[in-house]
Amino acid sequence: MRIDPPGKVKPPRLLILDDEAMTGETIARIADFAGFDAQNITSPTAFFEQVTAWQPDILAIDLIMPEMDGVEVMAELARCGCQARLIITSGVGSRVLDAAARSASEHGLDIVGVIAKPFSAASLRELLHKAIEVEMNPIAASPGERYPSRGASVEDLEQALTLCQIQMAYQPKVRCRTGTIVGFEALARWQHPQLGHISPDIFIPLAEANGLIDRLTRQVTEKALDWLAEISSSDTARRVGQNVLQDVHLSLNISARSLGNGALFDAILLLCRERGIAPQRIVLELTETSAMQDATTSLDTLTRLRLQGFQLSIDDFGTGYSSMVQLVRLPFSELKVDKRFVMTATQSEESRAVIRSVVELGHSLGLNTTAEGVEDQESLDYLDGLKCDLAQGYLISRPLPPDKVLGWFITREAEREERRLAALSSLGLLDTPAEARFDRLTRLARRLFGVSTVLISLLDRDRQWFKSRQGFDVTETPRDIAFCHKTLERDELMVVPDTHAHFLFRDYPGVIGSPYIRFYAGRPLYLRGGEKVGTLCLVDTSPRDFREGDAELLDDLASMVENELARASSDGNDLQTGLLDHATFREQAEAACQLCRRVGLPMALVSARLEELPAINKRFGRDCGDRQLRDLAHLMTEVAEEADLAGRYRATEVTALLMGGNLEAARGIAERLRQAVVCSNDNQAPDLASLSPSIRVAELSPDEGPFEQRLEAAWQCHSRVEAD
Ligand code: C2E
Ligand code: CA
Ligand code: CA
Repeated sequence: MRIDPPGKVKPPRLLILDDEAMTGETIARIADFAGFDAQNITSPTAFFEQVTAWQPDILAIDLIMPEMDGVEVMAELARCGCQARLIITSGVGSRVLDAAARSASEHGLDIVGVIAKPFSAASLRELLHKAIEVEMNPIAASPGERYPSRGASVEDLEQALTLCQIQMAYQPKVRCRTGTIVGFEALARWQHPQLGHISPDIFIPLAEANGLIDRLTRQVTEKALDWLAEISSSDTARRVGQNVLQDVHLSLNISARSLGNGALFDAILLLCRERGIAPQRIVLELTETSAMQDATTSLDTLTRLRLQGFQLSIDDFGTGYSSMVQLVRLPFSELKVDKRFVMTATQSEESRAVIRSVVELGHSLGLNTTAEGVEDQESLDYLDGLKCDLAQGYLISRPLPPDKVLGWFITREAEREERRLAALSSLGLLDTPAEARFDRLTRLARRLFGVSTVLISLLDRDRQWFKSRQGFDVTETPRDIAFCHKTLERDELMVVPDTHAHFLFRDYPGVIGSPYIRFYAGRPLYLRGGEKVGTLCLVDTSPRDFREGDAELLDDLASMVENELARASSDGNDLQTGLLDHATFREQAEAACQLCRRVGLPMALVSARLEELPAINKRFGRDCGDRQLRDLAHLMTEVAEEADLAGRYRATEVTALLMGGNLEAARGIAERLRQAVVCSNDNQAPDLASLSPSIRVAELSPDEGPFEQRLEAAWQCHSRVEAD
C-alpha cells in the first residue's frame, strides 16, 4: 500500500465495487463527506485495473455480483498481493458475511470490517474511520496486526536474503497433558535496518509472489537446523541437566509454492544429513489449502517426504475445505488446529465445535493434533479435556530469539519440577506403609506379564521410593540411577528390551549389579493435574519382547494406579468393613473388566451375603449386625488373597472379583470361606448370633455395557455354596 510522506496530508482513497450503481454512488457520497477521495465502479475488470492504476487505500466490495462474486474478487486481490484495507458490503446474512471475512483474512487480506446492507451512513463512516485510524497510526494496532511495513519492496527482500538478514524465532510446542516440551516451530523474522520490523504475513507472500520463497526456505532451514543441532548436543544436555532437548522436533513452514520443487526437499534432506539430524525429527508444515490444491502432485511429493522419514503436518487446519477422502489419502502425521479457533475457544461455541471435530478427526486418523494460538489456561484445559495432544501459543511462550530459548527452558523446567514435587508431597504417600490397593495392582501386573519384579515408584527430589513392590526388597534408590527418572524425563512409556544392548543403561548400577535388570518397561503415572509423580514399571532379569498389546495392557494397569493416586488414602473405603465402598468398587471393577476384555481373561465373582442382617440388627442390636459384617469382610479378605478387588457392593453383601480367574478358582475361595465361617462360629461365644452368610460364585462376562447389568446377569446364573 502507498503511504504518503508525513506532513503532506492527502485524503485517503476509497475504491468501491458494487454492481448496483446506486448503492456505489451512495457509499461514495458518504465517504466524500467524511473526507475521503472515493471512486465507484460496477465491473470487476475495470475495478482490478483501477486497483493497480489508482492504488487506493481502502476497498469496499459487494459480496454478491453477477459477473464475479466477492469471494472470487478477494482471492484475485490476494493473488496480486493487494495491500489495501478491505470493507465487505452485502445484503446476505451475517454468517455469510463473517465467513467471507474469514476467507479474506485467510487470503492474507487486511479486513477492516463487514457492513450489512442496508446500512446507515453513521455505521459506514465509523468503518471508514477505523480503516484510516489504524493505517495512519500503525503503532496503535494490536499485536499481531500489521506493522508499517508496506514500504518493503521485492528489492528490499532480495537484499535481505543476500545479506542473510532474515532471523529466526522459535516457538515451543508442549504436550497438553503434562506441559513437557516436544518441539519448536521455526518462524522467520525480518528486522529491516530502516523499515523496522516486517511481519511474516507481509514478507512471506512477497517472497512467494516474486519467486524468492525457496531461497528463503533454504536459509531458514539452514539456520534452524544449525540451531537444532546445537540445542540437541550433549554439551547442552549437560548444561540443562537433562536429555529432553536431545530429541525435540523442529517444525518448518513450507509454502504451497514449494511443493512442486523437489530440489528444495533434496537440499533439506542433505542439510539434515550434514548435521546428523534424523529427518524423523523434522516436521514440515503445509497449510491445508496448499496440500489440497493439486492433490496428485501433492500425493507424490508428500509420499516421498514421508518415505525419507520427515513428518508432515497440516497447518491452519479448519480454514480450508479438505474432504475426509483427501485427508485420508495424504500421508500426514499431524493436524494443527488453526489459531483463530483456538484463540476464541473460550468465547465461541462455534470455535469449540470446530476444535472438537478437528481433534476427533485427527485421532480417528491416527494423527497427532496440535492446537496453536493457546493464549490462556482455560483454553489449554479445554484442549486437554478433548485429549488434544500438543499445544503452542503465547500462554506457553511467544516465539523466542535463538539465544533466549535455553534460558526459558531451564527456568520453566525448574518451576515445573517444584510443582511436581509439591503435588507428590501433597499425596501424602511417601514413606507410608504398603497398601493393599496398590499391591493388588502390582501383583496383578506380575501375574499378567510374568516378570520377576513390578514396582510403583514415586520420584522424589533425590530418590525414587517404592509405594508397592513385588519381587524387590529395596525400598528406595538414588534418583540419578533410576530408570524411572529417565521414563519421566521422556514423559512416555519407556521400554528397554535388553539393557545390555543399550548405550545408556548397560552401565547402570542396577544392571551390572543387583538386581541385574535386563528388561525394563515403565509407564509414567500422572495426577489429574498432569503432574507426573512416578511410574508403574516391569523389570526382569532376562531380555524380553514388549509388543503393542503389552503396552496397552500396561497402560490400563497404570490408569488403575492413577485412579488410586487420585483418591486420598482413606477415601473409597467402606468405614464399617474396610473394603471398597459401592462407588469405588464399581469404578474399579469397570476398569478391571476393560482390562480383562482387552487381554481376553475370564473373570469370576464370589460373594457372601448376610440375608439375616436386618433381623439380626433388630434382635441383637446394630452393634451385633455391624460386627457380623466386619467379621465376614475380614474372613473374605483372608481367604480371597488372590482376589483383585473386594468391596461392599451392597449393604448386606461383600463381593470379591477375580481377574483371570474362572469359576473353579471362585469355588475354591468360596469353599475356603465356608470353612472359615464354620471355624469362626466354633470359636465364638455360644450366646452370640452365629454367622450364616449365603455364599455364591459366578462368572462375569467381559462384554461391554454397564457393570451393574452385567453383574445382575452374572448372578442370574450363579451357583450357591451354602454355609453350614
Ligand atoms: P503459522 O505457520 O500459522 O505460524 C503461527 C503464527 O502464530 C506465528 O505468527 C506465531 O507467532 C503466531 N502465534 C503463535 N502463538 C500465538 C498466540 O498464542 N496468539 C497469537 N495471536 N499468535 C500466535 P508469525 O510468526 O507472525 O507467522 C505468521 C505466518 O507467517 C506463519 O503462520 C507462517 O504461515 C508464515 N511464516 C513464518 N515463518 C515462515 C517461514 O519460514 N516460511 C514460510 N513459508 N512461512 C512462514
Ligand atoms: Ca506453521
Ligand atoms: Ca498455523
